[in-house]
Amino acid sequence: MNTFELDQTYIAGTYKRFPVEIVSGKGSLVKDVNGKEYIDMGSGIAVTSFGVADDVWIDAVEKQIRSVQHMSNLYYTAPCAKLAEALCKKTGMAKVFFSNSGAEANECAIKAARKWAAEHKGPACSTIVTLENSFHGRTLTTLAATGQEHYHELYQPLTPGFASFPAGDLDALKKLCANGTVAAVLIECVQGEGGVIPLDPGFAKELAAYLKEQDILLMVDEVQTGNGRSGKLYAYMTYGLEPDVVSTAKGLAGGLPMGATLLGDKVKDVFSYGDHGSTFGGNPVAAAAALSVVERLTDDFLADVTRKSNLIRNLLDGAPGIGSISGLGLMLGLKTSKPAGEVVAACMANGVLCLTAKDKVRLLPALNIPDDLLVKAAEVIKEACKP
Ligand SMILES: *Cc1c(COP(=O)(O)O)cnc(C)c1O
Repeated sequence: MNTFELDQTYIAGTYKRFPVEIVSGKGSLVKDVNGKEYIDMGSGIAVTSFGVADDVWIDAVEKQIRSVQHMSNLYYTAPCAKLAEALCKKTGMAKVFFSNSGAEANECAIKAARKWAAEHKGPACSTIVTLENSFHGRTLTTLAATGQEHYHELYQPLTPGFASFPAGDLDALKKLCANGTVAAVLIECVQGEGGVIPLDPGFAKELAAYLKEQDILLMVDEVQTGNGRSGKLYAYMTYGLEPDVVSTAKGLAGGLPMGATLLGDKVKDVFSYGDHGSTFGGNPVAAAAALSVVERLTDDFLADVTRKSNLIRNLLDGAPGIGSISGLGLMLGLKTSKPAGEVVAACMANGVLCLTAKDKVRLLPALNIPDDLLVKAAEVIKEACKP
């Protein structure tokens, strides 16, 4: 059997894959099994921050793999300690818990909020409020956090203690908070899976001020927006927010599984021995990869992410069949007159891999995608969008 047949036969049918088998790549170019080359405008859903098989990334991973690949959290290893230091120094957060995915990073955020609130406000204060149309992961608890009913239907009962409200409607949040049972509010600065929808900056400020006044935790899910994707290290920085908890994953380790939950001053000591854990969390290879990624996200590099963002926005803006462009940095959503799926299929036929998010075409290229590839990709996308 070929890969397609093996996959259809033996892999649980959760993914509707594109009919392409990728075998290799370099940077923002990948090759399929037939030798056809594509410009990768998805970077594995915002994961390969510096593209495929990047040399600096390979060196960091290889060096660590040849030393020790795993020891568990029963022992000290340097890469995760150094990574935690780098993340804290660059964000002003106080402590980090490492896991292996975005859902786990959010699970940790939720556990931190529940424990903090139980200790500071009493056990009745346990509700986590999220935004409607949000996406926070696929575990039963992060599904409960995800403010989209259609994800919930098949898996009842979900973890209790979650509620959601429409972005922009502070009064709705105030109603949810009225009885004093809300521990934390978890937001995405730009809803990714929800359709690349940025939070209104004015509302974000109002929300943050209200939560501070009420001593309710502000938690930001930076699983997709984080690690340079937005043009800042974390998107909350663009919004001028001071979150109590930040979760991240996807692009953090540039292509290896890693999640991180950053704890601010209020919650930095919420966990003690045995309160939480992960066998693989902080794995030295993933941590070495992440440290190499984070060290490269300098101010100059991030300014270039913003420049590249403007470059592609300008190339696509106003093109026939492209209605509007949303997002931040290199996380962009195109509203197209043709169905997004059709545009993505046409792009793929012409050698450009794009994604969708709800009814939009979603672009998440590597942060270091060369300008000439961005220009080429924009031409193919424009052609595909033409009505
Ligand atoms: C992808 C994503 C998640 C889930 O991450 P996994 O690594 O798939 O568990 C959570 N939150 C947001 C905002 C995401 O984009």
